[in-house]
Amino acid sequence: MPIADKMVKMVEAASMIRKMFEEGIRMKEKFGADHVFDFSLGNPDVPPPKIMQETLLDLIHDDTVSHGYMPNPGFMHVRQAVADYLNQTFNVGLTPDLIVMTVGAAGALNDCLRALINPGEELLTPAPYFVGYNQYAFVAGATLITASTRPDFHLDLEAIQTAITEKTRVVLINSPNNPTGAVYSAEELDGLGRVLEAASKKFDKRIYLISDEPYRKIAYDVTVPSVFDAYNHTIVLTSYSKELSLAGERIGYLAVHPKAEDARLIAGAAGVANTMMYVNAPSLFQQVVGRLQGITVDIDIYRRRRDIFCQGLKQAGYEFDVPDGAFYLFPKSPIENDVEFVNLLKDQNILAVPGTGFGGPGHFRLSYAVPDKTIIDSLPGFKKAIQSVK
Ligand code: PLP
Repeated sequence: MPIADKMVKMVEAASMIRKMFEEGIRMKEKFGADHVFDFSLGNPDVPPPKIMQETLLDLIHDDTVSHGYMPNPGFMHVRQAVADYLNQTFNVGLTPDLIVMTVGAAGALNDCLRALINPGEELLTPAPYFVGYNQYAFVAGATLITASTRPDFHLDLEAIQTAITEKTRVVLINSPNNPTGAVYSAEELDGLGRVLEAASKKFDKRIYLISDEPYRKIAYDVTVPSVFDAYNHTIVLTSYSKELSLAGERIGYLAVHPKAEDARLIAGAAGVANTMMYVNAPSLFQQVVGRLQGITVDIDIYRRRRDIFCQGLKQAGYEFDVPDGAFYLFPKSPIENDVEFVNLLKDQNILAVPGTGFGGPGHFRLSYAVPDKTIIDSLPGFKKAIQSVK
């Protein structure tokens, strides 16, 4: 085997989405792009707001803008802008030294997991979960443990309580959720905060909560409650990948709750962790997002697609919970084996990802970050696929 032994499992874990991606390229070459319905990737296609381009151009033409080295956690004025925005929104009392600008949410997850977790300690997350968590846990030397969720994919606090051991250092949640679209309520989060407080006492060890929130702004008719209110020992992290459609520019941040135990130490360690991996977040786009706090893409586009897709799939006979946020649907596979059903969808030129890849077997994930026409034109294929197994 030419690759390192430790990489084999990682490569396998990443393979389900990648296989679909490669299959999509092959099928588009064979059948033509218009005849392939690719719902496999969560790659935002809604354009960034116009003001993003204007801000970028302003910065490019401004001779006073720095393109040099900076403090590794990011420009002070940008971290101040992020802290100001979070304080206005959540009244949390953040200072810029508790903010680290990162290479997307992925960079933020890598930074704070490496800052917090000792080799062999456990990272606990509710399943289904974002596949990238396997890789971030691996880089941090953490063991990824999962707790089941309720049938509607909301938090099962008893399952979390049971899964916490003396080795647990971090509980990682993601709301709005990829792949399920669930948005956790304030009551659920408060309950989780109580579970973590009790478990920290029981094991005489502080358990931290990491809230991965890249879809916070993509929520439909529900507010996404603040995790800062639920538990002091929380690190919130996010990116502008989805809310400003800047996924390729790799920009995000993490924010440590001012009341977290050892808050400044954790923010400092996360700032050092990024130095070890990528030195600092991209300079130009730090300055772009610093000026665009609170701005988002047009969420109504995603809402419209969600509604068209849900209506079409329901009429075809699929079962699913209507997502409250993010841009994914996670329907039940009409047969037990989700990988087999995803292959039946492929026969209709429809690309989906088996739930097994997300720790949610018996389901499949569809991303509706695609044009309306792709959704509408795919619906006859979805109907044929379900009819073929009924
Ligand atoms: N967390 C979740 C739940 C995601 O869905 C993603 C990307 O899809 C990430 C983290 C990584 O986001 P970013 O592209 O900002 O690094």
